[in-house]
Order: sequence, then structure tokens, then C-alpha cells
Amino acid sequence: MISVKSLNLIFLGPPGAGKGTVAKDVVERFGVPHISTGDMLRDAVSAGSALGKKVQSVMESGQLVSDDLLYDLVEDRLSKKDCMNGFILDGFPRNVKQANDLDKILNELNLNLSAVVFLDVSEEEVVNRISSRRVCPKCSKVYNLISLKPKNDMLCDDDGIELIQREDDKPDTVRERYRIYVEKTAPLVKLYTNRNQIVTIDASGPVDKVDEIVFNTLDELSQ
Ligand code: ADP
Ligand code: AMP
Repeated sequence: MISVKSLNLIFLGPPGAGKGTVAKDVVERFGVPHISTGDMLRDAVSAGSALGKKVQSVMESGQLVSDDLLYDLVEDRLSKKDCMNGFILDGFPRNVKQANDLDKILNELNLNLSAVVFLDVSEEEVVNRISSRRVCPKCSKVYNLISLKPKNDMLCDDDGIELIQREDDKPDTVRERYRIYVEKTAPLVKLYTNRNQIVTIDASGPVDKVDEIVFNTLDELSQ
């Protein structure tokens, strides 16, 4: 792990672009926490908490959870001590309202954004990646039946538990999520481009290649 000046990052891109996969590798190298709002909400659903009960059906249908719930979740998480030296936001913000909310939260916490890393991949490629995504129901580790296979058949390398397909990764829901991405999230590319904060990464290659491009970019940013 290398020590850097703080990297306060947003990972932006369509569902299935590889945000979570690259984020995990960036965590190992740069030691900043990975804040995936999707993972946090899925944990709440698994735990059967009040939040989980509120969001479960919305998530399974591929729709976005309400902005108010996300505000509280992200504000609370970014206030934690481990975010003072950097963080990767993955899955938030997802619309213009949330981008404005994030400005407010960062302002309150006296933090600045270092960059928005946009993982650029075609619709065809993300649909392919998602259709073969499998996850461990215990530790949430993400695999791919084609590109990132588990060592043993369909079992998690770490827990030995049978991998599952996310409910919202079923074909009809994937199409709806992509539609929502185009309508609500893609406009953020323009918003952050206008602010001169975006770095576009060609994320169509294999994981190693994408990691290399992202690492080089972050090395430069952290000089
Ligand atoms: P996101 O977090 O953007 O929704 P994931 O990181 O979960 O996307 O990746 C989606 C799927 O594609 C996973 O099954 C993952 O293993 C696989 N994947 C991620 N990056 C790549 C890549 N560069 N090439 C091929 N498959 C990839
Ligand atoms: P993800 O793991 O990022 O693909 O997110 C899975 C699901 O969680 C989404 O389809 C939404 O239902 C919900 N979700 C995650 N992040 C957000 C967000 N920022 N705003 C609204 N809903 C979200």
C-alpha cells in the first residue's frame, strides 16, 4: 500500500461497469475506504433493519431508493473518521439532486472532491458483465462466470458458500436499471465535466488493464 495525499473520489458509470471491482483493488493499493451505497443498502436488507424493510422492494425492482434516505446514509458514513484521509463513493450520487446533496455534505464536513472517475463501457458490455455476475451471499465478494471465476465451481473462494445471482441482475431488471442510469445518472458526466472534475477511463478492457489505467490516474492525482 502506498501513502498519498487524500483521495476523495466518486466512481461513476453504468451498473456493471466494474466500479465495485476496481474500487476493491484501489482500496488495497491506496488504503481508502470503499463506500458502496448498494452494498450498504443490501446489508440493511439482509439484516432486516427498518431501513432494509423500506428499501427491499424498490431495490429488487431496479428503481432508485429515495434521495432523503441516501442523504442520511452517506452523511453518516462520510462523517466517520476513516473518511478523513480519502474515500471512494461507488453508486452515489446517482442523480442531480444527490450530486447537490453531496456538495452540501462535503461542505459541512470540510472536505473537497479530488476527482470523479468515470468508467466508460458500452451498454452491450455491461449487460454481458451483469448477466454473468455472481456474489457471495455471506461476504458480498463479486465474481464473474466468464472474467473472474471462483476457484471452485460456484463456491466463494473465502467462505466456500454457494454463489447467488442478485435479484436485480435478472435480465428484465438489468434493462430497467440501465434505462434509469441513462435518464438520471448519465447527466452527472456532463455536470462534473463542466466542473472540470471528471477523469474518463476506458473500462472496456480486462480488469488488470482497467486497474492499471485507474492506478496511474490516481498516482498522478495524489502527487
Ligand atoms: P458495478 O460495481 O459497476 O456494478 P461490478 O464491479 O460488480 O460492477 O462488475 C460487474 C461484473 O463484471 C462483475 O461480475 C465483475 O466480476 C465483472 N467485471 C468487472 N470489471 C470487469 C472487466 N474489466 N472485464 C470483465 N468483467 C469485469
Ligand atoms: P448498486 O449496487 O450500485 O448497483 O445499487 C443497487 C441498488 O441499490 C440500486 O438499483 C438502487 O435501488 C439502490 N441504490 C444504490 N445506491 C443508490 C443511490 N445513490 N440512490 C438511490 N438508490 C440507490
